Amino acid sequence: MSITQNLQELRTQLPAGVGLVAVSKFKRHEAVAEAYAAGQRDFGENYVQELVEKQAQLPQDINWHFIGHLQSNKVKYIAPFVHLIHSIDSAKLLKEVQKQAKAQGRTISCLLQVHIAEEDTKSGFSPDELRAFVRDFDAEAYSHVSILGLMGMGTFTDDLSQTRREFKGLHALYLEIKEIWPGLTTLSMGMSGDWPCAVEEGSTLVRVGSSIFGTRK
Ligand SMILES: *Cc1c(COP(=O)(O)O)cnc(C)c1O
Repeated sequence: MSITQNLQELRTQLPAGVGLVAVSKFKRHEAVAEAYAAGQRDFGENYVQELVEKQAQLPQDINWHFIGHLQSNKVKYIAPFVHLIHSIDSAKLLKEVQKQAKAQGRTISCLLQVHIAEEDTKSGFSPDELRAFVRDFDAEAYSHVSILGLMGMGTFTDDLSQTRREFKGLHALYLEIKEIWPGLTTLSMGMSGDWPCAVEEGSTLVRVGSSIFGTRK
């Protein structure tokens, strides 16, 4: 199946109201261009240098999502153009996004990443850290960031019942935070192996790579 066919099939399966980020990490510009030609405008990348190169060379109306672990000292490279940062995992990182967004005269949209998986390798706020962060949030200090919601990654496992539990937990946390911040719109969860489950559990934005572009080396 071609990238175009994969995208078309995915679109027919995604319910209305659920957005799709096509994750193009490690994929050539030609692959992104093919998806673009098939109408896709939102793409996700994990690495700053790769994202900066693609952004410079591919169509300027692409919405670039940063979904990988982001180091504070690299925020400045993506601040001029990034559409949504999914992976805010500390107050320190969000402060740096605020600083760089202000320097660019932009407001940058962000999601707070929550650690929902059993694995320690995945980053993010724990649920209690997130609650404390939201409780103590100083909106004036973050005049150039817009927090739109939460992001999480399930445990890498064949046991979809575990993944479902984790997604349910994240959705409940999202609703809890939405009581405090009613303007939240986005719950980013679900990848190639688990997005149907994530959508059933309340995802509004899925991040799909290999099911569109093929497996990565
Ligand atoms: C790589 C990646 C994806 C896409 O993974 P696939 O399994 O290829 O769909 C989604 N989200 C994040 C955070 C990723 O790093």
